[in-house]
Amino acid sequence: MFNNLSDKLDKALHVLKGHGKITEVNVAETLKEVRRALLDADVNFKIAKEFTVRVKEKALGQNVLTTLNPGQLMVKLVKDELAELMGGETAGVNLTGTPTVILMAGLQGSGKTTFSGKLANYLKTKKNKQVLLVGADVYRPAAINQLQVVGEQIGIEVYAEVENKNPVEIAQNAIAHAKANGKNTVIIDTAGRLAIDEALMTEISNIHKAVNPQETLFVVDSMTGQDAVNTAKAFNDLLNFDGVVLTKLDGDTRGGAALTIKSVVNKPIKFIGTGEKMEAIDVFYPERMADRILG
Ligand code: GDP
Repeated sequence: MFNNLSDKLDKALHVLKGHGKITEVNVAETLKEVRRALLDADVNFKIAKEFTVRVKEKALGQNVLTTLNPGQLMVKLVKDELAELMGGETAGVNLTGTPTVILMAGLQGSGKTTFSGKLANYLKTKKNKQVLLVGADVYRPAAINQLQVVGEQIGIEVYAEVENKNPVEIAQNAIAHAKANGKNTVIIDTAGRLAIDEALMTEISNIHKAVNPQETLFVVDSMTGQDAVNTAKAFNDLLNFDGVVLTKLDGDTRGGAALTIKSVVNKPIKFIGTGEKMEAIDVFYPERMADRILG
């Protein structure tokens, strides 16, 4: 994960090792390389610049710390700043509804259906929830089939209405079905498009208003870099969602989306997807991710 970024940061910080103390000159040189590494990872210019300014201020303010060598101190400062950039604290999901309704939003191909299954499986096996999966993609019959296959695989009921073309109605009926059948958690998988269009946005917004979910999770493919961030912004402006799910972090992703989404939409990354299997889901811990990047 983020191998290129890790290598480049490692090289940048290596320069400081062997220096006796931190000076403005060697800090500036190192941070120039750190900034380059961030830009290469598809972090936008402004965020990369602000990042290095903050690290610089802290580094120069901590000259007196003699217990650590400069190299270690800088690694720590950069690591802390990476964790902060990715969200600081870990954010949980709100499971207090009766039933809890979780709405999944995102573009087609982002990994929404796969993640809906993963989350259902996670809540069932780790949180002991009775989950109902809902197929509200009325345009692609294949999407409902895919959800049904997933549901069978993990032993979770899938609610769908093949003849009904109204996703708002399907979602509402599904919630009533959940209540009548002892399910305390409803995960609604919605339709996506290849790009943002008005019809899609109106539809997801209507579903959102009608079901008033405890959690709206925006799913995005981490491989799409800055596009992921722009899409997140558009969905957040519309839905004021609660958290982000970053998928495909097992691929050759550069890291820009993971590093910048929080600072752009001010919403936490809550989960990551790290593979196609149902078990490939992790709660997102900014600090652990920073540790991995600068391992
Ligand atoms: P949707 O259109 O948003 O519902 O996307 P899908 O759930 O159908 O996923 C699109 C493709 O991405 C499928 O081939 C999935 O197997 C794959 N996929 C989803 N999540 C991950 C992930 O975390 N890692 C990898 N490698 N592939 C994923």
